[in-house]
Amino acid sequence: MTETVATALDFLGIDRELSEEERLIRDTTRRFVEQRVLPEIAVWFERGEFPREVAKELGALGLLGMHLEGYGCAGTNAVSYGLASLELEAGDSGFRSFVSVQGSLAMFPIWKYGSDEQKREWLPRMAAGDAVGCFGLTEPDFGSNPAGMRTSARRDGSDWVLNGAKMWITNGGIADVAVVWARTDQGVRGFLVPRDTPGFATRNIDRKLSLRASVTSELVLDDCRLPGDAALPGTSGMRGPLSCLNEARFGIVWGAMGAARACFASALEYAGTRVQFGRPIAAFQLTQQKLVDMLVELSKGTLLALHLGRAKDAGTLTSQQVSLGKLSNVREALEIARSARTILGANGVTLEYPVIRHANNLESVLTYEGTSEIHTLVLGQAITGIAAFE
Ligand SMILES: Cc1cc2nc3c(=O)[nH]c(=O)nc-3n(C[C@H](O)[C@H](O)[C@H](O)COP(=O)(O)OP(=O)(O)OC[C@H]3O[C@@H](n4cnc5c(N)ncnc54)[C@H](O)[C@@H]3O)c2cc1C
Repeated sequence: MTETVATALDFLGIDRELSEEERLIRDTTRRFVEQRVLPEIAVWFERGEFPREVAKELGALGLLGMHLEGYGCAGTNAVSYGLASLELEAGDSGFRSFVSVQGSLAMFPIWKYGSDEQKREWLPRMAAGDAVGCFGLTEPDFGSNPAGMRTSARRDGSDWVLNGAKMWITNGGIADVAVVWARTDQGVRGFLVPRDTPGFATRNIDRKLSLRASVTSELVLDDCRLPGDAALPGTSGMRGPLSCLNEARFGIVWGAMGAARACFASALEYAGTRVQFGRPIAAFQLTQQKLVDMLVELSKGTLLALHLGRAKDAGTLTSQQVSLGKLSNVREALEIARSARTILGANGVTLEYPVIRHANNLESVLTYEGTSEIHTLVLGQAITGIAAFE
């Protein structure tokens, strides 16, 4: 990387706002991505596979459930978790998704709402990457409106019996335990479903052109019988799953800026070396305009992520503020990826460069964890007092 590019990547000197420990976690994650993810990612993306064995390496680095305390988790602050998410997504959104789902969507509900026994059984193994978790909320007919879910859990003696289907579940096909949200006569509750439970099956969704280095699956629950203590005792109602999504979305606010940074760096380097009409394309005003627009949005988005991270560490962050961060940073990251793609010309559509992969991945990131439309309406409600989405 040239000095000009390195300066552009932290144009505002945001690095100086980080503590030594935060920088250490950031640098360690960045090194892992450079050494372990970048050399292989095009192949994994093309083959449509997530290398399951990397889970243990992520665990050894302390990145799984890193913002949780105890049970083998690293117990870092929120900004460190955000910085790690950014670096992972600079590699590929699939890796950040794996870590988000494991830490915020599978481990967090166990940590926050689980019994001591459930925590002891699952959290240490999940923190180490020995066990993988997934989060089953979305259904074939209920995405933006998960409260309408059909999956049900009914009592049969002391057991629970679950029926229904969950769709688009990250890590589903490789999960050792699924956190499944189901309708009960006490409202929506979370259940821990180990992979080998009779009546539980997964089917991978293979033909996707986005987040290819990530496993996405359908979960099928067909008279799936669980012991009475499989339910998470600490939550009932939609508050439970929504609180988990809020945790994971916080990681996306940062992660999206990682994908954006990778695209910006690629476009800036390319523009400096690609010669047309006898000059590097970086010398043309239209190219500079694109690069500067990227610089401005990348800098603003990274500052926004840091601001929300400091608020989370101070305990003042609201879910609506997270919605603002997710909406803005994913939208701008996608814009940066598409614009970077144009600078790379035909090379931009190949896997030799990271931009089309990031652009395709960001299409999923724009949709999952609340679509951009839903976050717009959440913010609309926050400032007008009127809910426009129901
Ligand atoms: C790769 C990938 C991984 C995923 N991983 C998981 C996971 O691990 N666990 C999980 O539970 N889910 C997961 N999801 C599902 C994701 O959360 C849903 O796709 C998302 O919530 C949107 O639901 P939907 O796709 O059914 O779209 P729909 O809800 O059908 O929406 C379709 C369109 O209509 C718009 N729309 C809907 N309602 C309104 C409204 N009231 N006002 C305005 N516009 C509206 C939406 O914004 C969208 O543009 C994943 C999805 C993808 C693509």
